Amino acid sequence: MKLPRAISDVIESFEKLPGIGPKSAQRLSFYLLHVPQGELDKFAQSVENLKKGTVLCSICFTIDETSPCAICADPQRDHSTICVVEQALDVIALEKSGQYKGVYHVLHGRIDPLNNIGPDEIYMRQLFDRIHDHAARIASSAKGYGEPMEVIIATNPTMEGEATAMYIHKQLKVQSFDETQDKSEKLRVTRIGRGLPMGSDIEYADDITLQRAMEGRREFGN
Ligand SMILES: [Zn+2]
Repeated sequence: MKLPRAISDVIESFEKLPGIGPKSAQRLSFYLLHVPQGELDKFAQSVENLKKGTVLCSICFTIDETSPCAICADPQRDHSTICVVEQALDVIALEKSGQYKGVYHVLHGRIDPLNNIGPDEIYMRQLFDRIHDHAARIASSAKGYGEPMEVIIATNPTMEGEATAMYIHKQLKVQSFDETQDKSEKLRVTRIGRGLPMGSDIEYADDITLQRAMEGRREFGN
């Protein structure tokens, strides 16, 4: 029996989603046949608006309704502390844990050589540009020397997340952005970790664990 086109189209769309196999795609599609038309219209409308109603923040690349995002635009936040995460969902998780008062940088991925994802495939260069700009601003400001900057690397404690963290650390060590001042005075690179089990996702960690991981961050390499 050949499926009506209207059904097979929906099945095909579901199958493209991560974690949805052909059987689940079929089940979800047939389930939707029992949902009232009004609800289906609402569902379709919200999917249609998903990308139209959101933008990437031009500073931290998180997803919000405005650019700069609410966090980057907030003068109460500490803009010299940047927490680097893999995805926008991690920002939401860390914000929910409630303790962090700095800003973020969303990479939208991680370095994953097996899947051909290198630093150029994610928002890595933008991170280094941002750190350079910040350092330049501090150097040229009246206050100048002294205001230290911290980069907290909060990639997931997975193989790829660790590789990404190492890459960032190495690059920041290599890229000397101001020879006239002792770099260690101006840039701390830390890694969150304590309490986050190896192989886990920040997105799924509970608030207490995230709070502890943030408080227990260490200088990179120590
Ligand atoms: Zn932002």
